[in-house]
Amino acid sequence: MRKVLAPVIVAALAAMTVLPPPTAHAAVPTTNVFPIVGVRSCVDNFHPEEPDGHEGTDCFADLGTPLVAVESGSVFRAERATGGWDCATQTGDRSGNTVSILGASGTRYYYGHLDVIDSWVQDGVPVTKGQRIGTVGETGNAICSVPHLHFQIWDGNVTLVNPFPHLMAWPMPGTPPPPGPPTPTGTITGLSGANGTGTIHGTVDLPTHVGAIGIRALVSGAAQTPTQSASGSGNRAFTAPFTAPVTAAHPICVQAWNGAIWTTIGCRNTAQGHLTTLGGANAAGTASGLVRIQGWTGQIGVRLVVNDVVQPTTVVSGGTGDRPFTATFARQGTGSQRVCAQGNSFGYWHPTGGCWSTATGTFSSMSGTSGPGNALGSVSAPGWSQGIMVRATVDGAAQPFTYSNPTTRTYSTPFSVPAGTHQVCVQANTYGYWTTLGCKSRTG
Ligand SMILES: [Zn+2]
Repeated sequence: MRKVLAPVIVAALAAMTVLPPPTAHAAVPTTNVFPIVGVRSCVDNFHPEEPDGHEGTDCFADLGTPLVAVESGSVFRAERATGGWDCATQTGDRSGNTVSILGASGTRYYYGHLDVIDSWVQDGVPVTKGQRIGTVGETGNAICSVPHLHFQIWDGNVTLVNPFPHLMAWPMPGTPPPPGPPTPTGTITGLSGANGTGTIHGTVDLPTHVGAIGIRALVSGAAQTPTQSASGSGNRAFTAPFTAPVTAAHPICVQAWNGAIWTTIGCRNTAQGHLTTLGGANAAGTASGLVRIQGWTGQIGVRLVVNDVVQPTTVVSGGTGDRPFTATFARQGTGSQRVCAQGNSFGYWHPTGGCWSTATGTFSSMSGTSGPGNALGSVSAPGWSQGIMVRATVDGAAQPFTYSNPTTRTYSTPFSVPAGTHQVCVQANTYGYWTTLGCKSRTG
């Protein structure tokens, strides 16, 4: 009830519930049950048209009388009041503890002034007709009158209708089982792992429960292999494994089991980003790109993995959105270098935008025997189907570049040499990184 009713008036109104039920609205199920267990004492006080009008029906029962879901569906919203109502000033939290249930028919039901909302009643959780959701109370402005249920019906989740005839028609529910187990709570302390395989860890508690608690990770909503927390009571440590595809960023979430349902404790997003360019030549190189973690404005660690060898970590400063990075690498072995970037999210290294390969090839011969000529050979790079930029150097000085033939992968690139003996080398470039393919002597 929105307006203060003296208990005497309330009692009188409560006695006036012997009216025959008008025909129920077609779209609101007639197969529902009455929301209060064992007591039907409602007043037809639906007056939404009045200023500050009353949009529901009030039904009276003793404090603590069980309340049940009138229709099967899901919890649309459970709001646990954080403040009280001041009867003198008529200010504060008017509705108290409230629960909205969206029925399978599309009808939404609103319960106000609950004393207790059972702990499992959380947004989105499935609920069954007749299942206990809490108890009749006097939270909100009901504290100024007597314990009661303020009940509203939204036909099709859109149109407010008078609940009274429905409440009069629905049969009394059976006595529901006692409330379900409590809701787990917990904290994520971090992640670990790299490149698609990791764990998420933290602590979890399930009030009144002693022993291990069921735990599982979810990757983009996909449940991973369940595991268990440590045993004991209070906050218990957990480590849950996950496998994350490396092609995109993912939310990694943790859920705990209370004996009835899985409850999400929290989530962490993996890093994402992409490479923009390589730099350097031969023994040492760099890779630049952009990195971010959705919802995270702190520092981000970035590292390169070159031919599966992990390179030193660089730290990207805090900020929002895509943040630029440049990380260094040392050449690993001979041949093409496969350069991949990883971003660290709370301890877990996630690929950020694929891998780039440097060129590899041969410098097989030179045209002519002395003086200017063309350097000849072949060049390729994994994943690269176009012509590759190739140039000669003479004593380290770059000559004009040309492109290799994309089909035959051969190249012929010019150089000129002054008098005397000089060193002619050939370099090939992918993504900005020059790889020396070989060197030969040449006289001018
Ligand atoms: Zn009311």
